[in-house]
Amino acid sequence: MKKQYIIPIFVPHLGCPNDCIFCNQKSISGQKKNITKEDVKKTIDYYIDNIKDKDAEKEIAFFGGSFTGIDEKLQEELLEVAYKYIKEGQAKSIRISTRPDYINKNILKRLKKYKVRTIELGVQSANDYILGRVNRGHTFKDVEKASKLIRRYGFNLGHQMMVGLPESDRKDEVNTAKALIKLRPKMVRIYPVLVIKGTKLEREYKEGIYEPLTLVQAVEICKQLIRMFANKRIEVIRVGLQNTDEICNPDNKESEVVARTISSSV
Ligand code: SF4
Repeated sequence: MKKQYIIPIFVPHLGCPNDCIFCNQKSISGQKKNITKEDVKKTIDYYIDNIKDKDAEKEIAFFGGSFTGIDEKLQEELLEVAYKYIKEGQAKSIRISTRPDYINKNILKRLKKYKVRTIELGVQSANDYILGRVNRGHTFKDVEKASKLIRRYGFNLGHQMMVGLPESDRKDEVNTAKALIKLRPKMVRIYPVLVIKGTKLEREYKEGIYEPLTLVQAVEICKQLIRMFANKRIEVIRVGLQNTDEICNPDNKESEVVARTISSSV
């Protein structure tokens, strides 16, 4: 089997008018400025030049922000650059992540045109009260609608869920996993909450309103969720955000994290 590599391109907070209380995309992605088509080309070229295994399958992945909420012209420009590498056989596929309320037939037709293969939806919770509590700006109905449409259009469907959100308990998180399983995603990411500097959650944490999960609690719930998904043959492709200079032990000087539970990849 060919090795697979992801070429990550971060679009921090681009396309997202929202303000989830745990989010500070610029810190999470380690990227301080908005992206241009030249940046995309530079990043892809860098990875292609440095991946030693020339036969490996490469996927260009637009992470962070809400890709389908980006201004249409810029969205097409970014996709156009990535698509060129697909046409030339230098990369195999494209992946994007977005919000569930930024999916409709026209958007999916546009993504098809550029041969996007996988769409990941930020779900976070299936409980509408918790979605409101963290200021997501959408409901679980939006997740159901978007997931069905994505599958109907023949894309690979991915879901991202969080554990340890304010007022969310283990039962909520198990219920979220059950609700996602019903929507038949191909893959899932599980993110235990990190308290990032400059977010509303940081304020709640400092005021004693929000208490993060302990490491043991986070490991226990993630273990249970991984088993639930595995039993249904749904791949858990990641647990926890990628470690970067900013996303690391809160004791480090550069760290943007105020409090955390766990971060490891699977
Ligand atoms: S929708 Fe995503 S990018 Fe936008 S504020 Fe929420 S977590 Fe951040």
